[in-house]
Formats: sequence, structure tokens, C-alpha cells
Amino acid sequence: MEQRSVTILGATGSIGTSTLDLIERNPDRFRIEALTAQRDVAGLADAARRTDAKLAVIGDPGLYNDLKAALAGTGIDIAAGPDAIVEAAGTGADWTMAAIVGTAGLRPVMAALKRGGILGLANKESLVSAGSVVTEAARASGATMLPVDSEHNAVFQCFDQAAPRNIRKVTLTASGGPFRDWSVEAMRAVTPAQAVKHPNWSMGAKISVDSATLMNKGLELIEAFHLFPLESHQFDAIIHPQSVVHALVEYIDGSVLAQLGSPDMRTPIAHCLAWPERIDTPCKTLDLAALSRLDFAAPDPVRFPALTLAMAALAAGGARPAILNAANEVAVAAFLAGQIGFLDIAATVNRTLDHYDPAAPADIESVLAIDAEARAITRSTMKALAA
Ligand code: NAD
Ligand code: MG
Repeated sequence: MEQRSVTILGATGSIGTSTLDLIERNPDRFRIEALTAQRDVAGLADAARRTDAKLAVIGDPGLYNDLKAALAGTGIDIAAGPDAIVEAAGTGADWTMAAIVGTAGLRPVMAALKRGGILGLANKESLVSAGSVVTEAARASGATMLPVDSEHNAVFQCFDQAAPRNIRKVTLTASGGPFRDWSVEAMRAVTPAQAVKHPNWSMGAKISVDSATLMNKGLELIEAFHLFPLESHQFDAIIHPQSVVHALVEYIDGSVLAQLGSPDMRTPIAHCLAWPERIDTPCKTLDLAALSRLDFAAPDPVRFPALTLAMAALAAGGARPAILNAANEVAVAAFLAGQIGFLDIAATVNRTLDHYDPAAPADIESVLAIDAEARAITRSTMKALAA
């Protein structure tokens, strides 16, 4: 494999640091073009120094001087602000990791796709809010979009792209999160600290909360719909507490193909980084005898209404997924800030979906306008309820 130049958008986060870990273990295969982060100057500067990046970009413009001081004398170019992140995304690395959290990642994803090359997509929110706009951008430029999300990476490894008509169903697994067996009453008092403590995966705060509400699985069903050419009703989710089977693809003859592995994001990241080749990872090998059993159960729509909301948004299409996603981002941020309770997250998203029903967005500007309006509505209904 020829050496690949790599840009990491969101280099200081959970996915970003796992990506850096693999790259630093394979210095002859990868070199870093650009690294970006939002506020973590020290983490960004440290990674840029270690990997001898060409460019480091900090999203918060007020931190420009801090980054400049941290990288003084290194010869690494620096820049700051959201537009500089978009520019870094479009500079044309061979391979780009989209690991910014939330809709904030959408413009950088579009810039990277326009430029072509390979995009490893972790930033599921961009596909949820702007699905067909994003996939159309990839088609138009000939860019390759590879799914980093573990379930989608699993589907990608099992899915016969040449004959999707032979596929009956795609099933994504969900661990069920930390409150899998809790009653609604018990969930009412859940604290942010409890919600971000995922039983199997170590992840950023937002996706950890999404995993606890099961909104994450709902977002992933929408993400899967945009990545794989099946009808929306052919995607479903199943609870699997061990997070060993990541997804299953059922064929019309009854064959079911699944991808298994220890719950470590470095496996799907490595699969995308080296694709179509493979690289070694330090991930724990799967020991099925030690595990001895794998459990599965249907998700409970009553205790986890967020999944039901997302499935309805997927079935309805149009602007519904963008509204769902924007409202959820605002609600999760409010929950993490201690402003609303855990059960209020899904209730808040539901209210915004009730209040706002614009036409389907046709381009990136209309997606961003719908996103902004849905956020404003979510904030004002939360405020009205708190008063
Ligand atoms: P994280 O919170 O750990 O990291 C987020 C990164 O994005 C950081 O580098 C941060 O500096 C940057 N960032 C945050 N806000 C930004 C903004 N407004 N503008 C520009 N950059 C910003 O998140 P994570 O857990 O690494 O998740 C990243 C993405 O990957 C999410 O979309 C998540 O759903 C998806 N994902 C994560 C995992 C996981 O295991 N962590 C698994 C599957 C998918
Ligand atoms: Mg996932």
C-alpha cells in the first residue's frame, strides 16, 4: 500500500485519538496532512507535534494565539475558526476522517467530499440531517465514503453491493446502554455522570448519552438507510448487551452474515484507514469460549421512546431526520448541563417534531436553515417549560 496522507477532523475526540493511535503505529503507511479540534489546544498541539502535521486548526477563533504559542518553532502551519476547518477539510488529503461531533461536522464533510479521495465517516449527524445531499456530493465528485460507525462498518463488510436485491434485511445491534434494564421511574433521576458511563464502549459525551436513550440506534438506522441501497423498512435494531456482533445482513435465501469483534473502535477505523487492504491492530482478539454466550432481545419502545421517534423520522423522510437530529443535539447539551432531566430528552425532541414541519431540504443551505430553526424552537420550548 502506498503511503496515504491523512486529515483528521475532530482529532482530539474519542474517534480522533483512536485514529491517531493507529496512524502512529504505522508511520510508514500514513502521514498527517491536517488536524483539527474545537477547544483542546494542548491536545491538538501535542498530536500535531508527535505526527509532524503540516497544518493544525483550532475551531474556536479566540484560541488562535494559544495554538500559535503551543506550536512556536515547529514550522507547523496554524489557523483558527470554523471556515479554516472547512478549508482544511478540502485541502485534499488522500484519506479524511470525519470525527467532529454533531451537525458542526456537516460543512467540513461536504468540503472533503467535493475534493474527492476517501472519507471515513464517523460523524453520523451529517448523514442524518443531510443524507441525500451528502451522498449526492460523494457521487458527483467520485469520492469514496467508508462507514466508521461500528455497526455500519460491519454491514459494509457483509453487504453484497453488487446485488442488493438479494438482501432482505439489515439489523444493527445496540448494547442497550447503561439503563438497559431500568424502569422508567428509575431513569427519571439519571444524572449526566451515569448517562455518559457506557458499559462497553468508551466514547464522547454526546454519543454516550445518545446510546443511553437509544437515540444513537435511531440515528444509526437513518445513517444506514443513506449508506446502503435498501428501503427504510428493511433496517431494524436489536438489543445485544455484549456488543460483539455489530450488525447482521440477512439474504433472501435465509443466510445471515454478521461481523463480530471486541468492542474497540480501532477495528472499524483500521478497516477504513487501510481499505481495501487490512492492517494489524492492538485490539483484544475475540474469545468466544471465555464469553460463552451472546444475548439478544427486542428493544422496548415504551422505555426508549427516542428510538421510536427516530424510526418514525426515517419512515417519513424529508426534513424529519434533520429536525430530530437538531432537537436531540440541543436536548442532550441541556441534559449534560443539568438543565433538563434524562426523560426530557426524548420529550423535547418530540415537541420540536410536533411544532415544525418544513419541506424536504434540497441543498446544504436549506439543511442548515432547518437545523438552525429546529434548534431555536427546541430552545424556546425548553425555556417555556422551565418557566
Ligand atoms: P468527542 O466529543 O470525543 O470528539 C469530538 C471532536 O470534535 C473533538 O475533536 C472536538 O474538538 C471536535 N468538535 C466538537 N465540537 C466541534 C465544533 N463545533 N466544530 C468543530 N469541531 C468540533 O466525540 P466522539 O465520540 O469522538 O464522536 C465523534 C463522532 O463520531 C460523532 O458524530 C459520533 O456520533 C461518531 N461516533 C463515535 C463513536 C465513538 O466510539 N466515540 C462511535 C461511532 C460514531
Ligand atoms: Mg455505532
